[in-house]
Amino acid sequence: MRLFTFACPMCAADRQRLSILSALARRPKKLCRGCGIVLRSHPSIGVYLLFLLYTQFIGLIAGLPLIWAYMEQQWMAMAALWIAALLLCHVPAMAMHARGTICRDKVDPDRSYVRAKKQASTHDP
Ligand SMILES: [Zn+2]
Repeated sequence: MRLFTFACPMCAADRQRLSILSALARRPKKLCRGCGIVLRSHPSIGVYLLFLLYTQFIGLIAGLPLIWAYMEQQWMAMAALWIAALLLCHVPAMAMHARGTICRDKVDPDRSYVRAKKQASTHDP
């Protein structure tokens, strides 16, 4: 099962992934490799708030050991704690965005209600 990749909803170009650095944003963007359209993730506000709550939980758990490592000048332990905390926050965020809704960032410039009406009228007898 592909957890971190998604297919473009416009051109179906497969195996695209959002950057791990932009994963904490609510609506990270990505340029499609196939059609060049800017895509963005569109998670619901409830899912994103649950994710933010999870990151606060990770921050609480990692906070005290980080303070201890700083006070004891254990720089390698501090770096390992930072990396572990960042991975525990960014990797689930990548999965959340890739498995959620992916849509166009901006409205299609060719979309026109006038044209849609004309097309509808051609179907009338
Ligand atoms: Zn595409």
